Amino acid sequence: MKFRLLVAAALVASLATGEIFAQNDSMIKTRKDAELLVPRPFRESVPSMVKTDKDVLDSIDTSSPGVKILLYADNTWKYWKDPSVILKNDVFYENWNTETADPYRVEQKDLPEKISFWIVDTLSEYRCPNVVKVYSPFGYRHRRRHQGVDLPLKTGDPVYAAFSGKVRLSKYYSGYGNLIIIRHENGLETFYAHLSRREVEPGEWVEAGQEIGLGGSTGRSSGAHLHFETRYMGYAFDPEWLIDFETGTLRHRVFTLRRQYLDAASKYVPESDDEEIDIHEADQKDYATQDSIAAAQKAAEEKAAAEKAAAQYHKVRSGDTLSGIAKRYGTTVNKIISLNPGLTTKTTLKIGRNIRVK
Ligand SMILES: [Zn+2]
Repeated sequence: MKFRLLVAAALVASLATGEIFAQNDSMIKTRKDAELLVPRPFRESVPSMVKTDKDVLDSIDTSSPGVKILLYADNTWKYWKDPSVILKNDVFYENWNTETADPYRVEQKDLPEKISFWIVDTLSEYRCPNVVKVYSPFGYRHRRRHQGVDLPLKTGDPVYAAFSGKVRLSKYYSGYGNLIIIRHENGLETFYAHLSRREVEPGEWVEAGQEIGLGGSTGRSSGAHLHFETRYMGYAFDPEWLIDFETGTLRHRVFTLRRQYLDAASKYVPESDDEEIDIHEADQKDYATQDSIAAAQKAAEEKAAAEKAAAQYHKVRSGDTLSGIAKRYGTTVNKIISLNPGLTTKTTLKIGRNIRVK
């Protein structure tokens, strides 16, 4: 145990130089900065964490005021960023508003042309809010703007904070129903909508993977699902750029957002109802139609396959006539002609030709 601690302390001493602290700002200006800051490749994907219920025995200071080591009852340990230090970041004060979904007043032209974020840095964790195939994707759907992804779940299923951060908003919000917005250290915000229960309040710090509420169907929602959004400065972008929801994996540690991929509509917030339900409901109808078309296609294919499997052929022998063959197989000349494209009553039957008779 003592040895383990020494090793841990030595590791921290080597890592926790001033450089790590620069990460608080989370914006990387050059690739060189990135390489200096991260000992691990920044393009590495991150699996959704498995939350442990191990007891924390102790926390130990490191040479960095913002980094501690947590010791668990089973003798394992991990680094932990002290929220009281992270919370000093300006990002938690500027444009801070606990009532409105979009408190930013930034025009698209004033956004940086290209900005890179540490989504998960060396000392951070990540948990997929709900591992499931995306039901309604982001973007224009049914001529309306869908600002997030819809992730099916059952009412009462736990919903997790994807990343650590400070709860900016937690309230019933018209079209969104019960909505929680978390602002993260890197300036991004994540939205969790239609919850049946909210378990965190504005100003609260939440750790990645913490249960923040229960899934539901509040607001204008037709059936339980989690509507999940990712935004920067109020501009929504496709959460699937970050997360593969089907596997739960975070695609890269570092994410680059380009202004050219955003537009004025990216800032849209469904303030007054209808929008959400329309998209989800329209998708439900669409998928039901697609399902019935697929079922009809499948039935037709199966019928054709069954007919093909039941097909019977006759090899023409000397002296054969179509009427003779028809009689022999208990069918009609017309039926045989319909089964053999190009065949007519005038066709000369070549010996050895295979004619389909059934
Ligand atoms: Zn949605």
